[in-house]
Amino acid sequence: MTTKFDVVVIGGGPAGYHAAIRSAQLGQNTACIDKWINKDGVPSLGGTCLNVGCIPSKALLDTSQKFAEARDGFADIGIMTAGVKIDVPAMIGRKDQIVEGLTKGVAALLKSNGVKVFEGTAKLGAGRQIEFVGHDGKNETLTADNVVIATGSTPVAIPPCPLQGELIVDSTGALNFTSVPKRLGVIGAGVIGLELGSVWNRLGSEVVVLEALDEFLPMADRQVSKEAAKQFKKQGMDIRLGARVTGTDVKGKKVTVTYSDAEGEKSEIFDSLIVAVGRRPFTQDLLSGDCGVNLDERGFISVDDHCATDAPGVWAVGDVVRGPMLAHKGMEEGIMVVERIAGHLPVVNYDCVPSVIYTHPEVAWVGKTEQELKTAGDDYNVGSFPMSASGRAMAANDTAGMIKVLADAKTDRILGVHMVGAHVAELIAEAVIAMEFESSAEDVGLTMFAHPTLSEGFHEAALAVSGHAIHIANRKRKK
Ligand code: FAD
Ligand code: NAD
Repeated sequence: MTTKFDVVVIGGGPAGYHAAIRSAQLGQNTACIDKWINKDGVPSLGGTCLNVGCIPSKALLDTSQKFAEARDGFADIGIMTAGVKIDVPAMIGRKDQIVEGLTKGVAALLKSNGVKVFEGTAKLGAGRQIEFVGHDGKNETLTADNVVIATGSTPVAIPPCPLQGELIVDSTGALNFTSVPKRLGVIGAGVIGLELGSVWNRLGSEVVVLEALDEFLPMADRQVSKEAAKQFKKQGMDIRLGARVTGTDVKGKKVTVTYSDAEGEKSEIFDSLIVAVGRRPFTQDLLSGDCGVNLDERGFISVDDHCATDAPGVWAVGDVVRGPMLAHKGMEEGIMVVERIAGHLPVVNYDCVPSVIYTHPEVAWVGKTEQELKTAGDDYNVGSFPMSASGRAMAANDTAGMIKVLADAKTDRILGVHMVGAHVAELIAEAVIAMEFESSAEDVGLTMFAHPTLSEGFHEAALAVSGHAIHIANRKRKK
């Protein structure tokens, strides 16, 4: 028997479940197929993001930050604490509860919107025919006028570092340590390495991060990555650049990592090792040879600007297609696609995708970096504001970081905003809105910001583009 839908979404992560809910809202008879099984063996919607990504990592980042503040920072503000302790199983248990609540919430949202959920694995054949195998072993064939693939990504594995228990783990393992490793190695100073390295560093691990590239956070604005590196060093994170891992050797409860850098071959002994060297698109067992969907040379599903694949009526969104592997990018793509299916014409503005690293201080940016503008030969002005001059940051005893606005020299249109500091993950939304509305730096300067807030830092940086900032020495910065 074949069941027919208007839209079938394969994958119930952020890209897929947003597509499915919006599709149902638009009146389409919609199904969502997802195969995720959680660590208790139970089907769980929400994909990587809710189960082992964005949400659980932020739960641990928030707990560990509160712990580190209580231990190291409270005395500075007159709160005396002694003997502050971390209960790792309680912290992990709370994280699991948040994940359970949110994943069940997604199931409830899909149901209340009338989306039919299939728990199991989908394989796409010719003519948008889908072979579904349920977790209960039952087979079913589905067809649809439109199919949206949102099968996400999976961690990259590297031959020198095969995963092993709690000794060598990927990001998922690093969310579930049962105790604080005394010495923790992290391979990769990318977003995951910095976030999860920060969690365990705050809880007491001695963290060494081995990064193959010579440059720290090359995708960020250089001034911001320099400031972030300074702050992470202060926190005790030992980040070694130009360090390429060549092997691991497990003996008892220790892992020896060998790596080479400019000085030659070196080794370090750790109690645990996190491998965080990137993620790759996940299409395993998804596409039959005749389905008409093609992959690009890096294994991503090949799509056009509107996420249409090479097969008519088949679309692909989220981590499985080109572009940054970010939940919010996938969500917007999922919504764009089903709205286009319903006859609307939205687009995703890939120039305005915010990036955030949820360390402390946080790092956030949108648009072009100063080095990108220089390379392109674009003429621009810079305004920046140090958070040490913010009254609100001083009141909060959290003055690390800065905000920087880059604006076109002729039109004053904002081209990029770069932030490092407390709560900049929230502040960057203001910059994204400004850029979506094609604001000039002057527009932001003419906008009223509540006082005292950290947001005033963005206001001041925008004013500083033309030398009008009030709370910094009034010199117009030359690039
Ligand atoms: P996924 O979330 O990977 O979901 C894909 C779903 O499809 C999965 O449930 C999978 O089981 C299912 N599936 C795959 N194949 C099939 C099949 N054949 N049949 C049925 N189902 C299938 N991003 C952010 O924006 N902010 C963050 O703070 C952030 N933190 C992160 C922290 C960590 C530790 C990690 C690992 C990632 C983080 N990310 C973050 C990245 C984010 O998780 C991904 O960008 C996002 O989950 C991608 O969404 P997606 O829907 O494309 O894919
Ligand atoms: P990443 O690409 O951000 O960083 C991986 C790092 O590992 C790179 O700096 C790379 O040079 C380094 N590397 C690769 N091979 C190496 C080797 N052999 N030895 C040493 N270093 C090596 O990847 P990630 O940190 O694994 O994150 C994966 C994806 O998940 C990213 O695309 C990211 O966007 C997403 N994510 C986002 C967030 C967020 O938005 N806050 C959080 C976590 C993950």
